[in-house]
Amino acid sequence: MNHYPLRWAGNTTRKIKQKGNITLSDFDAIIVGGGLAGLTTAYLLAKEGAEVLLIERGNFAGAKNMTGGRIYSHSLEKIIPDFAGEAPVERRITREKISLLTEDSGVTVDYASPGLAVQGQDSYSVLRADFDQWLAGKAEEAGAQMVTGIKVDDILLENGQVRGIIAGGDEMAADVTVLADGVNSLLAQKMGFREELPPNQVAVGVKEIIELPAAVIEDRFQCHGGEGTAWLFAGQPSGGKVGGGFLYTNKTSVSLGVVCTLSDLITGAATLPQLLENFKNHPSVAPLVTGGKMIEYSAHLVPEGGLTMLPQLFGAGVLVTGDAAGFCLNLGYMVRGMDLAIGSGECAARAIMAAKREGDFSAESLSRYKTALDESFIMAEMNLYKKFPHFMENTPRIFAGYPEMASDLMAQLFIVSGQQSQPLYKKAGSSMKTVGALNLILDALKGVRSL
Ligand SMILES: Cc1cc2nc3c(=O)[nH]c(=O)nc-3n(C[C@H](O)[C@H](O)[C@H](O)COP(=O)(O)OP(=O)(O)OC[C@H]3O[C@@H](n4cnc5c(N)ncnc54)[C@H](O)[C@@H]3O)c2cc1C
Repeated sequence: MNHYPLRWAGNTTRKIKQKGNITLSDFDAIIVGGGLAGLTTAYLLAKEGAEVLLIERGNFAGAKNMTGGRIYSHSLEKIIPDFAGEAPVERRITREKISLLTEDSGVTVDYASPGLAVQGQDSYSVLRADFDQWLAGKAEEAGAQMVTGIKVDDILLENGQVRGIIAGGDEMAADVTVLADGVNSLLAQKMGFREELPPNQVAVGVKEIIELPAAVIEDRFQCHGGEGTAWLFAGQPSGGKVGGGFLYTNKTSVSLGVVCTLSDLITGAATLPQLLENFKNHPSVAPLVTGGKMIEYSAHLVPEGGLTMLPQLFGAGVLVTGDAAGFCLNLGYMVRGMDLAIGSGECAARAIMAAKREGDFSAESLSRYKTALDESFIMAEMNLYKKFPHFMENTPRIFAGYPEMASDLMAQLFIVSGQQSQPLYKKAGSSMKTVGALNLILDALKGVRSL
């Protein structure tokens, strides 16, 4: 094995060591990827006094990361109590809306409750460029070394044990390497931990950040100062295919986007940017963003296969966390990946510390990571919702059928033409005909079972 010092943008304090044939690790852990999963592991390990190096290919942590999005606070709250008091969160979400959209109409459920604002069960809109940099700062303060602008190209293997990473032809050794490199983890793929992502298990999201004055946001979205709204949309945004639209209020902007399954995009008529444009111009959406100025445009993959897309999670000297491990849940009415990324980052840190205490970084020792995941909310949630991705994929009426049905029913209730009205049960019956009463019952049963 040849060792060369890496040409880091930053300075690392440890150098490669070789004693006879034995390679001494430069670090206790090298973490690939400065998203929330990797940063959490780096922070927790550094706090315990471990020598940690985190390598991020973006120019700063968060530079390449994207979310809808809002973070459910519970997992980070456990690690950094009262984090929202110091972190650059945007708004605490106290109003939830879900809309079914046809081409020209919308039916909306609106939920507001003090329960949404209770610390530890609350959620916050965030902008990743700011939020990830804040967490990176915490990890650095705790003693983690951070190198940015460097892409890890490969994994260093020695007798079947992962011994570190290769970047730009240079090598760096560690007792444990953590793959926190996001949904399209080419490193996990290279390791044979997972196959190439199947297009029906991954979605693509595209998002605009649209600047608006805080007072306008609070008026339009009925929220008080500091509080905000999360709004998910089904039907028209994804062109009737598996996917949907989202809108999250930030302090002085809204995040507006569309997510669509890759397999549908490949065969669909419209491109994702076109779908976003159509969504932005929908009569229920256009007034929400009118007068705003687009200040950022981004796109990213989302893992959506649930339990079925979990890769091999650990091996000798290696762990896989966050999106790289497929830990993301899209339940239609909510998307959760960030709290799972943080939770899996914590499980990884615990497993590494236990392995370090014993000086044993074998696959068996690192299987503690899987045990910690099994005992955490992560595997409980992944198991609970394991049927949901299949339900979404095989129930196209959710995206093209039910929005029309709901709109038709509302039209029958609210549009007064002067013609003789029908009794309510007849109105409902005629609206249901668009999808069929039996389909409605079966889909409802399947939906309830998968949730
Ligand atoms: C459109 C959209 C909407 C979403 N909405 C929500 C939401 O509202 N709420 C929610 O909780 N979740 C949401 N998610 C999911 C959430 O964003 C992810 O689950 C979460 O970001 C995963 O964090 P991570 O740290 O695992 O991966 P990432 O945040 O993707 O971080 C991976 C990091 O690894 C780096 N990297 C990759 N390869 C290399 C390499 N070879 N060398 C060095 N660095 C590398 C990347 O640059 C990146 O910084 C959404 C996702 C999308 C795309």
